[in-house]
Amino acid sequence: MKLPITGEQIKDLATRLDPSTKLFTRADGQEYEQLIARWADNAIKQAGVVAVPVTYEEVSKLVKFASDNRLDIAVRGGGHSTGGCSSSEGGLVIDLSSMRNVRVDKDSKLITAQGGALWADVDNAAIEEGLATVGGTVNHTGIGGLTLGGGLGWLTGLYGTVVDNLVAAKVVIADGSLLTASEKENADLFWAIRGAGHNFGVAVELTLQGHDQTNEVYAGGYVFTPDKLIAIIDAINAKMRNPDPRAGIILVFASPPTMPGPVIVTNLFYNGDQAAAEKCFDFLLKLEPVSNMAKMMPYNLVNGLLNPMAAHGGRKSLKAVTLTNDVDAPFVQELFDEYARKMKETPDLAKTFMGIEFYDTTKLNGVPIESMAFANRGPYRAGIVGLEWSDSQKDMENRSWGRALQTKCRQHIIDKNQFSPGTTKTALEYANYIEPGDLVDNRPFGANQQRLETLKQKFDPDCLFNKTSPLVPLKN
Ligand SMILES: Cc1cc2nc3c(=O)[nH]c(=O)nc-3n(C[C@H](O)[C@H](O)[C@H](O)COP(=O)(O)OP(=O)(O)OC[C@H]3O[C@@H](n4cnc5c(N)ncnc54)[C@H](O)[C@@H]3O)c2cc1C
Repeated sequence: MKLPITGEQIKDLATRLDPSTKLFTRADGQEYEQLIARWADNAIKQAGVVAVPVTYEEVSKLVKFASDNRLDIAVRGGGHSTGGCSSSEGGLVIDLSSMRNVRVDKDSKLITAQGGALWADVDNAAIEEGLATVGGTVNHTGIGGLTLGGGLGWLTGLYGTVVDNLVAAKVVIADGSLLTASEKENADLFWAIRGAGHNFGVAVELTLQGHDQTNEVYAGGYVFTPDKLIAIIDAINAKMRNPDPRAGIILVFASPPTMPGPVIVTNLFYNGDQAAAEKCFDFLLKLEPVSNMAKMMPYNLVNGLLNPMAAHGGRKSLKAVTLTNDVDAPFVQELFDEYARKMKETPDLAKTFMGIEFYDTTKLNGVPIESMAFANRGPYRAGIVGLEWSDSQKDMENRSWGRALQTKCRQHIIDKNQFSPGTTKTALEYANYIEPGDLVDNRPFGANQQRLETLKQKFDPDCLFNKTSPLVPLKN
């Protein structure tokens, strides 16, 4: 068991650190409150101390101190974990929010970002050099948490997952050592952090492959009335049988306050000009959306489009759901009907949405599962339920509803003989959309589970990093 930090230990820690590392306790009032705030209010925990380092060496000292004293620690990147995985009750929080620098090398097209950077930092720095990389579709999410769990984004059709584009990382492991992880150095650690990275240390620096992105892109939403749902799904399925890697669709059930009830929004992305985009999405335009908000824009603005529906604050929970590759339209109708019923029954959940992501998965599934820890590869569509409410008495109840949808989707795939628990190599639910307590099987990393448990024994045998999809060390 990990321990809270004592007042004496905080004093001792302060004497070991460089003055550039600031420590904050509850006595610091508002500054401390701001540092323990998270994207979801329910993820806030009363840390014993929050350390805000600015150098990698200082992160090493903090991790070593925590290891030596068996402290509970949490690493805070962008702060979006709804399960409280970047927060600690009484322990030490290593807050990376002052480590957000991004360097871009135009010749090698490599983007090197510090572990506390947000996707907006990366997208903005990269586009200055005519580059982009796969990144989160809400640009205030952290590159740390999102990359270490795999990473899906609008450029996934063209370039795969974020970890498929990770070239190297600098990681502080549990004993405080700062290691470079790449195909050439510490290759086993590099294998592990590409999908299960939250388990292996603090990623203080991530180097991502950039790609030429000099053209503007087409992005935005088409809004449909719910009676079009089956036709939309059928049309998307038909389109995805010959997918265009430049296109992406995130289909969302949402309940905008301006509409009389839930609607279907197809959030669209096309990496090309407007004529090509409208040709690509003609099959949706023919279904007559009630509103069309898509337009041309520079790439670095795209990942800000969904920010308004993902504002900070409120009680929140993400639930990974997975659907068959060729999505079963009547089943999606069932999900929508359940969503609409619940929104009507519980107005406090009105900001809740459900999304299904459609990318060309050729690139993503072209990478063998065993080539890195990330195991969410297979003939499936990632989906998400994003719950939001205000009543703290309803945390359990609302999460249970999300988990019931998760189970329903999993069972549907099993019933269709498209997944066999314990046998299929793929991990079904996308690791980055899972919270502690969600796991519906004991192999969240699919075929890579055992190798990861062995590497956990090598790099973190005392389970210092134990918050997101925690691994149990396996002794040889
Ligand atoms: C609004 C929203 C939009 C999202 N969109 C996408 C999307 O488009 N694509 C996608 O793939 N996922 C998406 N996600 C899921 C996202 O990948 C995870 O929530 C991710 O964990 C967020 O990372 P963070 O750094 O912001 O969060 P945090 O809460 O800071 O961290 C989450 C976990 O990562 C660890 N961590 C963070 N940084 C580091 C680091 N540098 N070193 C070691 N550990 C670290 C934390 O300790 C914690 O365990 C989205 C989530 C939200 C809430």
